[in-house]
Amino acid sequence: MTASASTALPTYDDVAAAAARLAGRAHRTAVLRSRLLDARLGAEVMFKCENFQRIGAFKFRGAFNTLAQLSPEQRRAGVVAYSSGNHAQAVALAAQILEVPATIVMPHDAPEAKVAATAAYGAALVRYDRYTEDREGIGRALAERDGLALVPPYDHADVIAGQGTVVKELLEEAGELDALFVPLGGGGLLSGSLLAARALSPACRVYGVEPAVGNDAQRSLAEGRIVHIDTPRTIADGAQTQHLGELTFAILRREGPTVLTAADDELVEAMRTLVTYLKIVVEPTGCLGLAAATAMAEDLRGQRVGVVLSGGNVDPARFGALLAG
Ligand SMILES: *Cc1c(COP(=O)(O)O)cnc(C)c1O
Repeated sequence: MTASASTALPTYDDVAAAAARLAGRAHRTAVLRSRLLDARLGAEVMFKCENFQRIGAFKFRGAFNTLAQLSPEQRRAGVVAYSSGNHAQAVALAAQILEVPATIVMPHDAPEAKVAATAAYGAALVRYDRYTEDREGIGRALAERDGLALVPPYDHADVIAGQGTVVKELLEEAGELDALFVPLGGGGLLSGSLLAARALSPACRVYGVEPAVGNDAQRSLAEGRIVHIDTPRTIADGAQTQHLGELTFAILRREGPTVLTAADDELVEAMRTLVTYLKIVVEPTGCLGLAAATAMAEDLRGQRVGVVLSGGNVDPARFGALLAG
């Protein structure tokens, strides 16, 4: 059983409805700018700072939007989610706020900060090995055994609509943009971003950015089918997905974003840039957009550019080691 049976593609109206549900629940995060960075990139760059969102990443938006629409029976039975981290914390916090019992399936090697935060929200944890075990299978089995509603990390209309509120807010605050860069894992954030961008800034070019070693979305769009890959080994742990979802693939195919990639060393360079110019901590996955924008700065000269910084959950010691390395 999934959180709701909806397989229809979400629309911009669903993003707007999600925004109303999230009002006063999610933070309306800052849009930051740096004149020095603008000068360096030769463009006007607006950073949407979801590293300041509740649980430290945009995923609270999709999780809360989904849980808020469960039936009373589903709320009583509880929810289950599988995640390498941020979706886990998001479901755990949304469940705590809405007083829904939550079980989270997390890999053994998930960052300690993410594991501890998830447990602190009162969720029950089930651990697994991300290189040998199938988290979707484990999640589905728990859902069936205990009658829980499965809250998928990206392939769900309510999740996608919730994630779309990030770019809705950015465009409301920044106005229309020439280009927008969005981190890409399973495609929930990018799908929601496309719905918001097409409605509020129709001429904006939208770029999804995935890890270079895990370019399944790029290949899926090129081949016209959902390409499955082995779990990619990258520091972008929030984008270690093995495939797009049915809904996210359908939206990406329809809207035709350009999918770019970034290598790990480019992500570290972007982390360094963000701490240097904006004084903010962004996790490796959250840097995918800036890394790609930096690599194509020539093409962005004089343009108004949005960059979604999708999260900031990285252990301080790891952050330091990555910058020193
Ligand atoms: C989950 C996540 C992503 C990728 O989002 P998808 O909806 O799976 O594409 C990007 N950045 C961060 C910080 C995340 O937690």
